[in-house]
Parts: sequence; C-alpha cells; structure tokens
Amino acid sequence: MNDTLPPGLYIVATPIGNLQDVSKRQEMTLRQADIIAAEDSRVTAKLLNHLGIKKRITAYHDHVGDSVRAGLVEQLGEKAVALVSDAGTPLISDPGYKLVRDARAAGHLVTTIPGPCAAIAALTLAGLPTDRFFFAGFLPAKAKARTEAIEELATVRATLIFYESGPRLAKSLRALAEGLGDREAAVAREISKAFEECVTGTLDELAARYAEAPPKGEIVIVIGPPGADAAASDADIDAALAEALERLPPGKAAREVAKALHLPSEGLYERAMALKAGG
Ligand code: SAM
Repeated sequence: MNDTLPPGLYIVATPIGNLQDVSKRQEMTLRQADIIAAEDSRVTAKLLNHLGIKKRITAYHDHVGDSVRAGLVEQLGEKAVALVSDAGTPLISDPGYKLVRDARAAGHLVTTIPGPCAAIAALTLAGLPTDRFFFAGFLPAKAKARTEAIEELATVRATLIFYESGPRLAKSLRALAEGLGDREAAVAREISKAFEECVTGTLDELAARYAEAPPKGEIVIVIGPPGADAAASDADIDAALAEALERLPPGKAAREVAKALHLPSEGLYERAMALKAGG
C-alpha cells in the first residue's frame, strides 16, 4: 500500500461513540495526512491517541475568516488535509461545507472516507419508514422559532430526523407533538455506547415519558411521516375555513386552519377570501 496520500481534502468520518468503529481506511488517512483540520483539537487528540497517531491539529470552523480558509485551501495543492469533526461525519450539523466548496472551486482533489453518522444510525434503529427521510438538524432553542420550524415541516411526507440534547428533549417532543400531531416516533440515545437505547412510542407518549426524567447523553429523534389519512381533503379545508371565518378575519382564519390541519398557509388566504365573497 502506498504510504503517502495525493494532495487534496479528505473528509474523514469518525466514531459517534465506540472507538472500534474506526475503519482501516479512516485510520490510514489520518495516519498519512499532512494536516488534520478539526473542530476541537482536544476531542480529536483523544481519537488520535487511541490510534497511536501523533500529529498537529489545525482548528477549523466554517466561521473562521475567509483568509484562514483561503490559507488552508492553498495548502491543498501540496498537502493532504484530513477534515474531521468531533464525532461522526463532518459537514452533517458540523463544520466543513465552505471548505469543501472552496477546495473544489480551486480545482483540488476532494474525497470522502465515509463512516458513522448519528442520523443514519438512528434511522436504522427506529423501525420507521426509511424510503424517504428528511434530516432537519437541531430545532431552534427559542420557542417561537421552534414552532415556526416545526410548522414548516408538518407537510413533509417523509420520516423526519432531528438532533437533540437531553435537557431540551421533553420540550422539543411536546412542541413536535403539538405541531405535527401524535405521530409514531423514536428517541435513539447514546448510539454505539454502553447505554445505547432506542425508545419508541407516539410523540405524546415520549413527551410525557421524558418530561418526568430528562435523559443524559446524545440523542436523535426520528418521527414517522404523516399518515395518508392525515391529509385534509378540499372539503375538510373549506369546512374548517368557513367555521374559522365566522370568528376571524380571512388572514387569521387561514393561519389558524393551516396550523390545525398541518398545511402550508400559502393558498389558504385566497381560499378564505373566496369563501367570504361567497365562492
Ligand atoms: N456530524 C455528526 C454526525 O455525523 O452524526 C453530528 C454532529 S452534531 C454537532 C452532534 C449531535 O449528533 C448530538 O447532539 C446528537 O444529537 C447526535 N449524536 C452524535 N452522536 C450520537 C450518539 N452516539 N447517539 C445519539 N446521537 C448522537
């Protein structure tokens, strides 16, 4: 096997808990890279120690200044740079996309050494449909932004995946139950670690369970798609709008119905105006 890497950017996935999940190719790339660019040098140092690799680690975040990134991109012409994040696949709710974009634009080799990703691992544990899934990352921490983000996702006909932390879990599950309806869901925790678990139930059941006892560790929430019977028919929408119009002006009626039926509000305002005009 060649013991030098051609210059370029190597996106290297690392374990999400169990260090034995490092693949031979990931280890070889980290060993042979000229530079390791990492989110947090202390976290990556632990992995490198485990592998017996001694190497200087360069800090990299997408919000480093353009000049720092440009400096790193310039080195890609002569050096093999391995990009890692604290855990899992770089760029997935982690830094890296601007570096990949700029490296490719500059004509350098960009390649990936795939491996663990908590979103995909959780999807495999959840026992929910996997044919279409939507990765939504972390929900916003503030209640209003969180509600709006959930509203946007309510009509997505796919399994939804969110990253979450223990202290925020119950609040997020409650908001998801309110915004999406009581769908089937799973909370996958500490994947590949000693206390791995995957708890399934409806969003209401899970919100109640975790309100009592906020869990520790790293968490992924997986939520099944809306059921076919959850889709409101035109007649359902008109009936809901007509009822709301008895109490509210068209704009507010449209927003209320959109929220209640988990529909995008576009189009409902026009329909509310038409109903008000006698259409
Ligand atoms: N890039 C990573 C990946 O590929 O999964 C994700 C990075 S993101 C900053 C960290 C989040 O991933 C955690 O807050 C948690 O939601 C999820 N996560 C990471 N490791 C996990 C694990 N072992 N079990 C469950 N969730 C995990």
